[in-house]
Amino acid sequence: MVEGLYFHIPFCSNKCPYCDFVSFVSAPSEEYLDLLKREIELYSDLEFDLRTIYFGGGTPSLVPVQLWKRFFKLLNLEGVQEITIECNPENYRREDFEELLSLGVNRLSFGVQSFSERNLRFLGRWHSSVDSIRAVHQAHLAGFENISIDLIYGLPGQGLRELKEELKVVKDLPITHLSAYLLTPYEDTLFGKLWQQGELKLPSDQEIEEMFLFLSDELSSMGFIHYEISNFAKEGFECKHNLIYWTHREFLGLGVSAWSFVNRRRFGNYKNLELYKNSLLKGVKPVDKEEVLEGEELLKDYFFVALRTRYGVPRSFLNSVPEELREFFFEDEHSIRLTKRGWLLINEVLIKLI
Ligand code: SF4
Repeated sequence: MVEGLYFHIPFCSNKCPYCDFVSFVSAPSEEYLDLLKREIELYSDLEFDLRTIYFGGGTPSLVPVQLWKRFFKLLNLEGVQEITIECNPENYRREDFEELLSLGVNRLSFGVQSFSERNLRFLGRWHSSVDSIRAVHQAHLAGFENISIDLIYGLPGQGLRELKEELKVVKDLPITHLSAYLLTPYEDTLFGKLWQQGELKLPSDQEIEEMFLFLSDELSSMGFIHYEISNFAKEGFECKHNLIYWTHREFLGLGVSAWSFVNRRRFGNYKNLELYKNSLLKGVKPVDKEEVLEGEELLKDYFFVALRTRYGVPRSFLNSVPEELREFFFEDEHSIRLTKRGWLLINEVLIKLI
């Protein structure tokens, strides 16, 4: 039963030097939204018990509200509890947020990344910290009660003092959720190339550990629950859509490069816009890759996502954890889960575990 729907809107105003998402520097077109409509129709054979819808990107907030209005007419929102749109802080104004709310959107996720002008320039962002603060307040005044922001940490030269300054701004914002991502120099990004050439100096592992623990402690003291490695929420505001991913429930991803998990199959769409479009124009699902998960593979996949969360996996799996890894786990009567140090070393722990 498909519980979550993800739409990928792969258009951006610029390409950020750290970004490895599939995105094109261009304005979103009505034609692309029409392709998404065609794609949904090809999945009418699936069973849905839809709880969440998520528009990610790319930059979904480049889509004019008028186009959203037309698109939303096609969606059956009955039973849907959470509809999120990712926004860049410079795109929408209060009137736009009001219109989105009236369409049924009830969660916004802002790509703030930093409140330091120096860091924003370094990250290639084209909004200011004032834009971010204004956007969050305008969304809140428009009536949004569930607002998330993304921050990036682990920047060159960044220390705890600078992070503390970022959190001072966070403290005064009417937000319910925060995602804090470690800057990672992915291959095929500008930062990845600079890092490989030794031209980008990132903090040491020890400095990263200090920042991670600092963020976790400070945000906890501000009332946020650290419920997934990179995610913090006020009680009751955990992202329902992402919890579908992390608890191995079924979701359908639509759009260029989107991934799905349905009937134990993980499948991903073409990353190339032309291939995606041509497939749909022929009435064929634009799936490029797929993998059927069975037995041990399914279990590994489950561990991989579930151990990212504070809910962990059922205690019955305790016997699968070798003695040497037990120090990285908490256990209670129902579950086992990683400690914060376990989260920091999750890749190493998972390799040994599975
Ligand atoms: S980080 Fe966001 S805004 Fe920047 S290029 Fe990637 S998807 Fe676009």
